[in-house]
Amino acid sequence: MAVDKHRAPRTTEKEFGGTLGAVCLPVLLPVTVLYLLSVCCSPSASLLQWPPPLPSPAQLWQPKALAIVLGWLGLQGVLYLLPVGKTAQGLVLRDGSRLQYPINGFHSLCISAVLLAVSVWAGLPLGYLSDILLPLAVCAGGLAFILSLLLYLKSLVAPPHALAPGGNTGNPLYDFFMGRELNPRIGTFDLKYFCELRPGLIGWVVINMGMLMKEVELRGSPSLSMLLVNGFQLLYVTDALWNEEAVLTTMDIAHDGFGFMLAFGDLAWVPFTYSLQAHFLLLHPHSLSTLTAAAITALNALGYFIFRQSNSQKNRFRRDPTDPRVSGLETIATATGKRLLVSGWWGFVRHPNYLGDLLMALAWSLPCGLSHPLPYFYVVYFCTLLVHREARDERQCQGKYGLAWGTYCQRVPYRILPYLY
Ligand code: NDP
Repeated sequence: MAVDKHRAPRTTEKEFGGTLGAVCLPVLLPVTVLYLLSVCCSPSASLLQWPPPLPSPAQLWQPKALAIVLGWLGLQGVLYLLPVGKTAQGLVLRDGSRLQYPINGFHSLCISAVLLAVSVWAGLPLGYLSDILLPLAVCAGGLAFILSLLLYLKSLVAPPHALAPGGNTGNPLYDFFMGRELNPRIGTFDLKYFCELRPGLIGWVVINMGMLMKEVELRGSPSLSMLLVNGFQLLYVTDALWNEEAVLTTMDIAHDGFGFMLAFGDLAWVPFTYSLQAHFLLLHPHSLSTLTAAAITALNALGYFIFRQSNSQKNRFRRDPTDPRVSGLETIATATGKRLLVSGWWGFVRHPNYLGDLLMALAWSLPCGLSHPLPYFYVVYFCTLLVHREARDERQCQGKYGLAWGTYCQRVPYRILPYLY
């Protein structure tokens, strides 16, 4: 990849299967979402049933669903613009500038929760979400597609320094998929940053809550398994929004352009596939003993502890290496002037945060029991995503740090799972 701050960076290395991946994935990903939701609604919930359950057009499209998705995006957009919370600076860009970002995602979550609680109290049937999940997913996916097209068109008039290092091959299909512009904005409204943690992530817990309310409607009270899934995933989303500033240094914000991959992932994939466990439990209830529930809660707590501690340790170190909580850790120097941690969590494995995340993923599926593979889709998908993400990050770090990265890999030989991977 040629990087020159005075010219448009031309991407030469393609990821995600190159052009073939960029053509197939925009079809395959939406079909997967609809397939998973349809299987979940079928009586056997079997991934192997043949013929696969096919939804009728009436089950896929409802104007009410479009109104709900647009209303939700509008509400989150208004909350994004509220002058509450602090403002943070992003990383230094190619032209030397730094963008400003509102850190008010946690406020958005709290205000959304209050608005929903008041609406439910006033009679809003939140459980109705379970009846229209398919059309909601169709509308969210359709809007993600339209948004990606508009983003691609917008990128054609963006200045060269605004392009993402990974999405400027010149091949329209690939660039549409990967995202051509790094930080597309309308005025100060940052479209990628807005989509990354708000409508989809908060939407995910609202869908979960809808499943819980429907369960109460049908069975009189929420099951222990439904409460665990809701509680664990609410903790995860609250944590992400509480630590919103950390997203500014992630690959998604700092490296990837905003195209179909992130738009569909943020707006459709996350809310509709990550809520699969709650959806499954509504239609295929599973009761848990107190002991099993305690063991699953302990697993989630362990995962969360590793995830939070390791992410905080790195963020603290990157923000201020002299912070007394990290200044005693062993590090190695790199030619860029930045140092790499080789003790503490980042001396245990090279991605301790992924390990914690995977333990939590397992804890979110276990409340659904072991009778069906469907609720474990998230675990399998997430393992694949993190192994692939780890390889991408490894390549980028190898490029950034060269020999020093090689030394780090020798000192910390395991990527995610000690002694295994
Ligand atoms: P990471 O937080 O793992 O960051 C990787 C970066 O950290 C590297 O590029 C490097 O950047 C820095 N780094 C790596 N090793 C060291 C070291 N030894 N010392 C200091 N810095 C180091 O990136 P992700 O964005 O992949 O993950 C963030 C979190 O989000 C994770 O917990 C992940 O599990 C989660 N996640 C969740 C998803 C979901 O769908 N639920 C999807 C994706 C991620 P540099 O040196 O430039 O600072």
